[in-house]
Formats: sequence, structure tokens, C-alpha cells
Amino acid sequence: MGAQGPPARRSARLVAVAAQRAGPSYAVPGQAATTEPRGKQGGWVRIKSANQPKTGQNSTGVDTVAETRISNDYNMVGDDVWRQLGVGERINTSTTNPLNTDAWVFAAQHGWMVTQHSLTAAEVAFHISAYQAADMEAGPIIGALRWSLCHVNPITDAQIQAVKDLGIGLNIQGTPYTSAAGAVPSGPPFRKLLDAGIPCGGGSAGTNVGPFNPWLMMYYMTTAKNNAGSVINGTQTITRMEALRMYTLGSAYLSWDDDKLGSIEVGKLADLAVLSGDPLTASDTEFKKLRSVLTLQGGEIVHSAS
Ligand SMILES: [Zn+2]
Repeated sequence: MGAQGPPARRSARLVAVAAQRAGPSYAVPGQAATTEPRGKQGGWVRIKSANQPKTGQNSTGVDTVAETRISNDYNMVGDDVWRQLGVGERINTSTTNPLNTDAWVFAAQHGWMVTQHSLTAAEVAFHISAYQAADMEAGPIIGALRWSLCHVNPITDAQIQAVKDLGIGLNIQGTPYTSAAGAVPSGPPFRKLLDAGIPCGGGSAGTNVGPFNPWLMMYYMTTAKNNAGSVINGTQTITRMEALRMYTLGSAYLSWDDDKLGSIEVGKLADLAVLSGDPLTASDTEFKKLRSVLTLQGGEIVHSAS
């Protein structure tokens, strides 16, 4: 299947990835989402994106840069295919710069949603304390704005409680699928996070971190096994239904799309995929190989296996 004429982005064999940010979460599973602009068949991939510009590059003057960018940018402006969605996936290149706290306060005061890359133990600790400070100074409001942290693989039980108390969400992935046994940390502790009642969205992070294929991510989430078959995430497995909910409605919630994406309901967009098998009953081996045989975006067929 080749290109069918200009404009290129709207032509050819399209794989729809419903809703989402230029970050790690994707709202609708089932697409063998390719990691390149062109699909394996040579066609183009059409994705929906909720863009999240980071606000600062500098290690100093972060608050000023952030304030300028937030004050001179549009928030939540766009359409069902592309729009701005707050600040992310980091508010500044320097993730643990103390000045970031002022930037987060400013973002909260101006009603911006924020999601922050938070991968190491030091990052998780700093970001939670800074979020608490921002929430106290500007709010409490960041839970209502659906702020989130991304990754949080090494999050502790006390930090899980702190996240719960803030009312924020988490963008979590199964990227350790490609980690060796014994890698520290494995995580994230999917079971504990869902049991705590924290809003979680599923995804695959950057394609230089782990496979984009959602079924490999959900395989890890549901088996705790890496790609060599070794159990590396202990007892932190979740059910397939829980993984699917994270990838769909969970991610849609974090990108403010749960009123139109994430579940098949009257009144929502017809963004959905018909799969090659039943994700609830397939064997683990079959589960990893699930594909979309038919993908609709806004009711339009954008991918067909036949
Ligand atoms: Zn990240």
C-alpha cells in the first residue's frame, strides 16, 4: 500500500493512534503503531497529538522563562487531531532545578496542566515535594488540573500516598520490558498504584526507551516479564482489563479526552480498532502479536488489514 496523493499526512496507509500527547501515553490500543512517520508498508502514519511544550531550557532563570512562555502561549487550543495540552514532558531540561518550583507555581496559578518526567528516585522525591509546594501556594488545584508525573518506576509506598493525597495522576509505562534481569529499578509498581486508586495512563514512552508496540508494554504490565521471559517486576502485575483501561480511558483522562475517547460510548468519537484476537483470552504469546485489522479515526477507516 503506497501513498495515495497529497497532502502526504492525510494519504496512504494510515495507522491511527488515538488521542494523545507527544509524551508517553496513548489512548487507544490495538494499532501496531509504527515508530517512524512511514509505516512498514511505506504509507504514512496519522497520529493524534496533544502537544506539551516544555517551558525552559536554561539552568538559571527557569521561572522567568517559564512565565514568559506560559504567558505568551495558548493553552488547550486546537482540535481533535492536534492541540496544546499544558506543559510537558518536563518543565525544564534540568529536571531537579530548585527554580522549577516557582515555574510550577506559576503554571498552577494560570490554570495550566503539567506533566513531568520523573524517572529516578531523586527526581520522584523532588517532584512530589515541589508539586506539594505548588499546590499549597496556588491551590489546592493541581489535582483538579490533572497534573501528572511520568514513569515513577522507583516510587515508594510513602510517595504513592503523597501522590494520592495530591490527587494527581501518573503516566506509567512498561519500558523495563527491554531491561535485563536484575536491572534496578524495574517497576513501576503497577499493582500498588492501581490499588491506591491513583488515575493512571498507560503508554510506551519514547521509542528510544522501549518498544512503541502497546501489546509488548501491556505484556510486561500483566506478566512482569521482560522480553527474555524473566520475571523482573515481582508481584506488581495487573490484569489485562486493567492494562487496557489504563491505555484507553486512563490515558484519555490525563489528556482531558475522557469525554470523547477511551471507551466506546454514544457521544464519543468513533476512534477504535478491531483487533486480530481477543486481548482478554489470548495466550501470552498471542497477546504480544495482536494487531489492528481495522482502525477508525473519527468514523473514517484509516487502516485496514485487507
Ligand atoms: Zn520521560
